[in-house]
Amino acid sequence: MSDSEKARQGKPHPRTQAVWAGEGGVHMQRATQVPVVHSVSFGYEDLDEWRAVALGQAEGHIYGRNTNPTVAVFEEKLRVLEGAEAATSFSTGMAAISDTLFTLLEPGQRVVSVTDTYGGTNRLFSEFLPRVGVQVTLCQTADQASIEAAIDGGLRVLYLESPTNPTCKVLDLERLSARARTQGAIVVVDNTFATPINQHPLELGAHLVIHSATKYLGGHADALGGVVAGDAALVEAIFRRREITGATLHADAAYLLLRGMKTLALRVERQNSNALTIARHLRAHPLVEQVFYPGLEDHPNHEIAKRQMPGGFGGVLSFQLPGDFDAVKRFLPRLRWAHRAANLGAVETVVAPPATGSHVELTAKERAALGIPETLVRYSCGIEDVADLIADLDQALEGAQPA
Ligand SMILES: *Cc1c(COP(=O)(O)O)cnc(C)c1O
Repeated sequence: MSDSEKARQGKPHPRTQAVWAGEGGVHMQRATQVPVVHSVSFGYEDLDEWRAVALGQAEGHIYGRNTNPTVAVFEEKLRVLEGAEAATSFSTGMAAISDTLFTLLEPGQRVVSVTDTYGGTNRLFSEFLPRVGVQVTLCQTADQASIEAAIDGGLRVLYLESPTNPTCKVLDLERLSARARTQGAIVVVDNTFATPINQHPLELGAHLVIHSATKYLGGHADALGGVVAGDAALVEAIFRRREITGATLHADAAYLLLRGMKTLALRVERQNSNALTIARHLRAHPLVEQVFYPGLEDHPNHEIAKRQMPGGFGGVLSFQLPGDFDAVKRFLPRLRWAHRAANLGAVETVVAPPATGSHVELTAKERAALGIPETLVRYSCGIEDVADLIADLDQALEGAQPA
């Protein structure tokens, strides 16, 4: 759908929503910007009013572990961007994922997912959920038939992530969600890599969408946060749990995330185009072995990505250098316009080899089993000028050649 068609349907474009959603309240002294409310508690002279708010029968806040006005604006902005009924936030992305899975799953129930989920999520599947008697079935990410077969075997939750980290595999969210719904399952999608600018899992059939707000939503690598949005009853149940487990988003972090989100569309559009240009450049580069990016026409799931990521293919790509890990050691320090660090989705370009970053705890053999070459480099594009980034990559590739 073209931009003007969207406008004609009366729904603001995500570019407009990113700026304005949630910001409509009248604030202290008529401030136009959302205040950071540090107060832990909210006082009431009228006991009937206090009781009504505490019981959720009237608007208001009681205690900061449960709700906070600054945090509520962050939740509302994300809710609108994802087109969700409700949203609730967390101190980190992992808190959001963990509280969601532990709310939805009971001992004896089954969750189906893939081997390529985010490292922390994978630990929930391999260690913490089995410990409480949840059955976990992890399928090969690229093997759609095996995921469908696992779904057909019955499940409570289908947990998906697309594109994946770090080899940018793409799952057919619409097809797998529909299949899981025939089994009465709840579908959860980690949309961190795609962002609500590029992909809307709820429109593709998911019940819940999760973000590590630490990455693209905040966009400046200066605040941790997480959020779950979707079906109101499910979000309510997850919120009820978080009130007690206490993984609450701090008002300061909520403010930084809110401030970052105003430029979400601007940043992601630039990062999409930087990533596509760089992926095409590196694919034709004689000193690069292989490039992984769903925007490349020869990516195995390019057609699915084109359909389910109308906004763009995201800002993360990865590529494989020829040789062994020494090639990565020679290459990375030569990059001028990049942090060598574990995060992604920031305004600065950030690079990391999975062998020291996302998959450091695995052996080389285990990484190989996941299809992660030892000489892979994950490249999270920033918003810099693409010609500068390409020149930087070229000089580092040439300088890294063995003498
Ligand atoms: C970073 C990340 C997470 C975890 O988020 P934190 O905020 O670091 O807890 C989850 N999923 C994906 C895809 C991520 O990139």
